[in-house]
Amino acid sequence: MPKFGNKYIGAHVSAAGGVDNAPLRAAEIGANAFALFTKNQRQWAAKPLDPEVIARFKNHCRQYGFGPEQILPHDSYLINLGAPDDEKLSKSRAAFIDEFERCFQLGLSLLNFHPGSHLKQISESDCLTRIAESINLAHQRVPDVIAVIENTAGQGSNLGWRFEQLAEIIDQVEDKNRVGVCLDTCHAFAAGYDLGSEQGCEQVFAEFERIVGMHYLRAMHVNDSKGARGSRLDRHHSLGQGEIGWPCFEYIAKDPRFDNIPLILETINPEIWPDEIAHLRTIHCKTLAN
Ligand SMILES: [Zn+2]
Ligand SMILES: [Zn+2]
Repeated sequence: MPKFGNKYIGAHVSAAGGVDNAPLRAAEIGANAFALFTKNQRQWAAKPLDPEVIARFKNHCRQYGFGPEQILPHDSYLINLGAPDDEKLSKSRAAFIDEFERCFQLGLSLLNFHPGSHLKQISESDCLTRIAESINLAHQRVPDVIAVIENTAGQGSNLGWRFEQLAEIIDQVEDKNRVGVCLDTCHAFAAGYDLGSEQGCEQVFAEFERIVGMHYLRAMHVNDSKGARGSRLDRHHSLGQGEIGWPCFEYIAKDPRFDNIPLILETINPEIWPDEIAHLRTIHCKTLAN
């Protein structure tokens, strides 16, 4: 595995056939980071991880050079940690704790998740409190794993599209060392943040620093956007082919504030992931050479 410095660039790879298959799939596309689901993301229940699969996963990670800081597991889409209905909330929290447990068993340190939705049945602040409380419960039940909140596009009643909402959740989390943010560029842009130019990026990250704090940034989802800025639509595109454009992604590749965290592509054409990764890597290497 060649040394790339500490820019961890990869994609959300398939875990079909077992999580232990993910590291090879990531290595094959030239990634030194990857995201994965540790269970079927569209089902509530999953059988516990087989100890043999866990051992193979750990071996493969070692073999291909992936440490826990380069791996970003993503939780199930069904979970709503801010659910207004108490029964749905309990079910979501149980599933979330199971996701935490699976990460712990796999030796992983991050868990990326979507904050939650109020479904127009409770207030925004009630919903944010429920989300924070869900994180606190998971922290009490499972050691070590860091809860990484993903910003959303603000589609429907999804919260976490404003930096203020992310800060309001973090504020109510008891163990601040075990909470962080994954910023998705497509979601931020769709939510109205101007990532369309270098100057825009400069301002958006200054705002993130002021409201949330860059030290909470634990990962990025690097995606272009089909939807216009402020459209509140969660539609990813390949890098440079959407409304955001290359300046934003080159900005991230160059800036050392985005070193040492997984930078994950969830772009729509996996066939060009190797090219997208290589392009980001080239920009980073040029910066190092200068
Ligand atoms: Zn994302
Ligand atoms: Zn998305």
